[in-house]
Amino acid sequence: MSTAPLSRRFSALAATAAPGSRTARFVTAVSRAHVRVHRATGGRLGGAMGPVEIALLTTTGRRSGAPRTSALACFRFPEFGDQLVLVASNAGAARHPAWFHNALAHPDVRLERRGRSEDLRARPATEAERAVLWPLVVAAADTYAAYQELTDRRIPLLLLEPRPAPRTAAEGLQLLAELGKHLDGDVHLPGTPRYAELAAPWNVTVPVTPAAVVAARSARDVAAAVRTAGSLGLTVAVQRTGHGACPVDRGTLLVHTGGLDGCSIDPVARTARVGAGSLWTGVVAAAAEHGLAAPCGSAPGVGVAGFLTGGGLGPLARTIGPSSDLVRAFDVVTGDGELRHVTPETEPDLFWGLRGGKATLGIVTAVEVELLPITEVLGGALWFAAERAGTVLHRWARWCADLPTQATTSVVLAQLPPLPDLPPALAGRSVVGVRFVWTGGTGDGERLLEPLRELAPVLDTVAVMPYAAIGSVHADPTDPVPATERSGLLTELPPAAVDALLAVAGPDSGTPLLAVELRQLGGAVAAAPAHPSALCHRDAGFTVLTLGLALPGAPDAGAAGEAVLDALRDWSHPGALPNFAGGDDPARFARCYDDETRTRLRDLGDRYDRHRVLATGRVVRG
Ligand SMILES: Cc1cc2nc3c(=O)[nH]c(=O)nc-3n(C[C@H](O)[C@H](O)[C@H](O)COP(=O)(O)OP(=O)(O)OC[C@H]3O[C@@H](n4cnc5c(N)ncnc54)[C@H](O)[C@@H]3O)c2cc1C
Repeated sequence: MSTAPLSRRFSALAATAAPGSRTARFVTAVSRAHVRVHRATGGRLGGAMGPVEIALLTTTGRRSGAPRTSALACFRFPEFGDQLVLVASNAGAARHPAWFHNALAHPDVRLERRGRSEDLRARPATEAERAVLWPLVVAAADTYAAYQELTDRRIPLLLLEPRPAPRTAAEGLQLLAELGKHLDGDVHLPGTPRYAELAAPWNVTVPVTPAAVVAARSARDVAAAVRTAGSLGLTVAVQRTGHGACPVDRGTLLVHTGGLDGCSIDPVARTARVGAGSLWTGVVAAAAEHGLAAPCGSAPGVGVAGFLTGGGLGPLARTIGPSSDLVRAFDVVTGDGELRHVTPETEPDLFWGLRGGKATLGIVTAVEVELLPITEVLGGALWFAAERAGTVLHRWARWCADLPTQATTSVVLAQLPPLPDLPPALAGRSVVGVRFVWTGGTGDGERLLEPLRELAPVLDTVAVMPYAAIGSVHADPTDPVPATERSGLLTELPPAAVDALLAVAGPDSGTPLLAVELRQLGGAVAAAPAHPSALCHRDAGFTVLTLGLALPGAPDAGAAGEAVLDALRDWSHPGALPNFAGGDDPARFARCYDDETRTRLRDLGDRYDRHRVLATGRVVRG
C-alpha cells in the first residue's frame, strides 16, 4: 500500500524547509494543528493515514530540554514482539529528524495513541533487528522504500519498549548499596567523603555527580556494575583521574578504576600487562627497571586506559606513532556486562574500536602494551622570553618542517604562575617553550637543535636524560585545576599561520589563556598501523591546544580558545583527536571520526550494548 501522496509531499516539505523560512513556519503551524486535533479527538482524527497508524511522540529537546511532540507513523509487527517501531525517514532528507536525535539523547519518551498515553523507553534498532524489521516496514508502507532511495544515510528505526519498573530513589540507592556486598571493591553513595574524593575530576569545573561510585577492584566488579546499572535503568561512565572528565549526573553509575592497578613487566616479550586504573607514572618506573620505556603521554599522571583508548600521542609520538598502535590486548567489559579478552585474532572488531573509540565499546579492565628498548633520550625544553615569540615561532615552524622521525617537538606560549617550584627564569613570566625529544645519537640531536639554541633561550634544559624522567619535558600541571580547554588540528603551519596565532595569543595580544600549545605530528603518527584502528586524522600536521582558568569573574578562556582556533581556521584540519576533544561540545567529539569509522563504532556499540548502558559521555552512538 501507499501512504497518501499529500502526506508524502508534506513530509518532504517539512524535511527540506530552511529553519526560520515561511515554509518552516507553515510546516510548524500544520504540525501543531495536527497534534491538537489528534489530542482533542483521542486520535480519531489525525490518528491514521490510510491503514498506517499515526501516534504522537513527545521527546525531550536535546539542546533545549523542552518537550517536543511530533506526529509519526507507528508500527507494531506481531511477528517481532511487543515493541513499537518508528521510522526516522525524515522524508528521505540527508539528516536524521530532530525527534530521533532527541530520543537518543533522552531515551525516556511519551507516546500517545488511540487516546492513551504511555511512558516508554526508546532505543535504535540494532543492525540485526533492522534487517528483520525494514522489509516489514516497507511492506506496510512502501513510501519508506522511496525515502530510502532518496538518501545516502541508512534510515534508522527507533524501537519503543516499556520502561523498567520505576523505583523510588530510596529503592535505587538501597539496590546500589546492596551491590557493594557482592563486590571485591565498594560502592560509595552521595554524601560520603569517599564518593566526593573518587568522583572529583582533575578538571574541577566538570560536574561529576553520579548516582553512586563503584570503586572497582576487579574486572568482575566492573561487569557487576554494568549489569546492575542496566537493570536499574542507569547508564555507566568510567573515570580514573578525570584528566578527560565528562559531565556525569544522577542517571549514571560511575565506575572508578583506581583499584585496578596491577602492573607486571615481561622483559623478554618487552610487554607490560597493566590494570586499567594504573597511571603511566607507575608503569614508566616499572618498565625502566628492566631498561624499557612505556609509551606514556606528556603527563604521566594520566590513566593508562583513558590514554590508550583515545589513541595516545606522547612525547615520542613522531618516533613511535600513537601509543594505541602498541597495544597487544585488552580485557574489557562490554555494555552487555560480558568480560572479553580482546586481541586482533579473538575479537578483531573490538580490537579495532577500542583503540581510538574511547569508552564507546566497553570499560577496559586491563591492557597489554608493548614496551620500547629505550633507556635514555636527549630531551627537555628551550625557554625564551615572550618578547621573542615571533622569532622563535617562525624559526620553529621552519625547523620542524624537516625534522627526522626520531624527533618529537612542540611549542607552547605560556603565562606561568609565580610558583616557588618553577625556575626563577620562568616563575611568574610570559614565555615561549620549545620541547624536544630525540631518540637518535646524541651528537646528531644536539646539532639538530642548534638553529633554535642560537636564539639564546633564557633556560635550556635539553640534555641526555633517563626516559623515566620523560614527564619533565612537558612539565604539565599535576594538581587538579579549574581548566577550560579547546583543541583543534592544523594541516600545516606556514608563516601566515604563525602570524595569525601571534595576533591572538602572542605577548601583545592580551590573551587570558595560560597556555597555547602546538604539537607537531607527522612521522610515525602518519604511518599506517600494523592493525587498523578507530583513531582517525593521522594525516594532520599539528595539534593546537589552549588552556585557561575557569574562575568566577575571570575573562572567558573558552572564548579566547575559540578565538585562537578561529584565527587558524584557514589552516585547520576538519578532524579532532579523541584525547584532546575536551569541553562538552558533542559536535567537537563527532569530528574525531570520519563517517566510515563513526558508522562502524556506532554499529558495534549497538551490537555489544543493546540497552545503551554505556551511551553516556563522549561515546559514539546513533
Ligand atoms: C595535562 C594533560 C596532559 C595530557 N597529555 C596528553 C598527551 O600527551 N597525549 C594524549 O594523547 N593525551 C593527553 N591528555 C589527554 C588524556 O590522555 C585523556 O584525557 C585521557 O582520557 C585521560 O585518561 P584518564 O583515565 O586519566 O582520565 P579520565 O578523565 O578518568 O577518563 C577520560 C575518559 O577516558 C576514557 N576511559 C578512561 N578509563 C577508561 C577505561 N578503563 N576503559 C575505557 N575508557 C576509559 C573514558 O572515555 C573517560 O571518560 C592530557 C590531558 C591532560 C589534562
